[in-house]
Amino acid sequence: MNMAIHKKEWQLLTNLFATNRLPHALLFTGTITADKYNVALKFAQYILCQKPLTNNACGDCKSCRLFTAKNHPDLLLLEPDASGKQIKIDQVRALINILTKTSHQSGYKIVIINPADALNIAASNALLKTLEEPLGQTCIILCSSNENKLMETVRSRCQKIRFSAQNANNFIAQYDQIILNELLADLDSLIKEEITFVAFAKKYAKKDQIELINILQIICRDMLLLRLDPEAKKNFNHFSEEQILQLTKLANHFNPEKLIKLFDLLIENKKSQEHNINQELFLTEFGLLFSRSTEC
Ligand SMILES: [Zn+2]
Repeated sequence: MNMAIHKKEWQLLTNLFATNRLPHALLFTGTITADKYNVALKFAQYILCQKPLTNNACGDCKSCRLFTAKNHPDLLLLEPDASGKQIKIDQVRALINILTKTSHQSGYKIVIINPADALNIAASNALLKTLEEPLGQTCIILCSSNENKLMETVRSRCQKIRFSAQNANNFIAQYDQIILNELLADLDSLIKEEITFVAFAKKYAKKDQIELINILQIICRDMLLLRLDPEAKKNFNHFSEEQILQLTKLANHFNPEKLIKLFDLLIENKKSQEHNINQELFLTEFGLLFSRSTEC
């Protein structure tokens, strides 16, 4: 993921760790566009890394390799069983059980609760003691876009890290331009039926989904603006001339209603992203809708 986007938050976190002031409970809050979960994962990797660099995990030690393989025994994820469901007391008890058993081992245990507002009341109550008196060297990270939905007793036991919302234009400027150009070319190929929406979904399901959805959203937004007023490009200083040309070409295939439909689809996806939905399925739907640009 592109850490330039949450640089401030990242510096704050690594500084807390470097100066031995890491609290045992952190609450990552901020709007849905803030990439709290991925920062939590990256921070977990950094804490667990055996040969950390100044500001990052090495990416190469045994711990980092276990992490990349999604197989690190000291990283515990607490999530709802299914999208939109609650995190239940049994799940919290199972987590505490693991922490109790392993608390005598050296090194950190990182717990990420995502989304923390999915904790129901019983589950929240079961977690309180652990938030207050951690078992061993533990750091519990709660991620939430709706912190008001968290019990006050949970919130008050965590140190809050507020993530700033991402500015769309900065986002484009900091995004890998090679990937961006490739995406624009692939969207063009979708319309020309040079690639199928299934192939498109397969390819892009492997990318960082939060970044990808943000990019697609900006692309669809700007296509809509161009469709409504070709002069809108004067304000597009986040895209290069060549990219604007490509966007205009793409936009001309669509009517505004269709673009609004695509945009809405992306917004919906973003709302449910914290519940780990099947992205390949979503991208298939998006690709299908995109490839049928002229039909309505
Ligand atoms: Zn490492």
